[in-house]
Amino acid sequence: MKIAFFSTQLYDKKFFDEHNASFGFTIEYYETSLNEKTVNLLQDVQAVCVFVNDKVNRLVIEQLALKGIKIIALRCAGFNNVDVQAAADHGLVVVRVPAYSPHAVAEHAVAMIMTLNRKTHKAYNRVREQNFSLNGLLGFDLFGKTVGVIGTGNIGQVFCSIMKGFGCSVLAYDVYPNDHLIHTGVQYVTLTEIFERADIISLHCPLNEQTRYLINDDSIQRMKKGVMLINTSRGGLIDTRTVINGLKTGVIGSLGIDVYEQEEKLFFRDLSEKIIKDDIISRLGSFPNVLITAHQGFFTHEALTQIAGTTLSNLKAFTNSEVLINEVKI
Ligand code: NAD
Repeated sequence: MKIAFFSTQLYDKKFFDEHNASFGFTIEYYETSLNEKTVNLLQDVQAVCVFVNDKVNRLVIEQLALKGIKIIALRCAGFNNVDVQAAADHGLVVVRVPAYSPHAVAEHAVAMIMTLNRKTHKAYNRVREQNFSLNGLLGFDLFGKTVGVIGTGNIGQVFCSIMKGFGCSVLAYDVYPNDHLIHTGVQYVTLTEIFERADIISLHCPLNEQTRYLINDDSIQRMKKGVMLINTSRGGLIDTRTVINGLKTGVIGSLGIDVYEQEEKLFFRDLSEKIIKDDIISRLGSFPNVLITAHQGFFTHEALTQIAGTTLSNLKAFTNSEVLINEVKI
């Protein structure tokens, strides 16, 4: 089977080529993302493999179906960028990698908390400039603080355990509470209670119609003054303009984001010589208490190994007409 990979980076090639040695697929790598224009690149291909910012909407799916493509393999967990209904309407199967090192993303969320709190990024630069002053670097103890976790699936539950390890009280909200976490002392509460009681809020739920703009004007108004907000999940969970207002008024004391609603135009590229036209990300970058990373939560050796292994196993199961354990169904 020939598979076209979109949004390919050098590290994708490295990990997939290594794993593909034992699968034997023909892989065609494209750096460009998949969209209504680039779908025309495809010829004699039976599968496409896509990542978080490929736009697999109904128009693209119609073209994929016309070209005889049978399967869309996501090499990520979230599938908000694929019109799953359109895929079903055109008889295309969608598979994903539901779990790959949840530790990678949970640990990145913790790294963002530690950096924002103890300002190690500023300390690093200061000391290199022989500025040994501590002014402006004051943080707080995590011990005893209240952390609110929204979404306690694979990543959220690892994050809860780490924060319990710091001695934090952990409040959680999920449509399906997790009994194991309750036994470890995590307290499930309403969303409103999380907004009202948490010193740190971390988002670990998927982006869907219920969760879009979960962080909005109303929720920010309920938050404790100075709250730290962390989003390693999907940019659309946050209404970024409203969060900017929250930062200006001081309700949001610090913000760490690994994802951004308009990230597909920016992330995974070197734009250091370009003029950034997105004024919202530029404004965010101007705050001293905002930390932005470019969707690197997943980026560990262990996670990339699992992503390559599971993606190719999904495709092999499809070619062998086996049960697809990682199929995305409507
Ligand atoms: P998961 O499916 O294991 O867990 C998601 C949890 O969210 C589930 O427990 C689900 O019940 C809950 N949920 C669903 N709707 C909800 C709602 N309306 N309110 C509250 N909770 C709700 O997913 P996961 O593997 O833990 O991943 C979580 C998210 O992290 C993914 O959807 C993806 O967007 C993001 N992610 C980011 C990166 C990164 O590199 N930054 C990497 C992987 C995943």
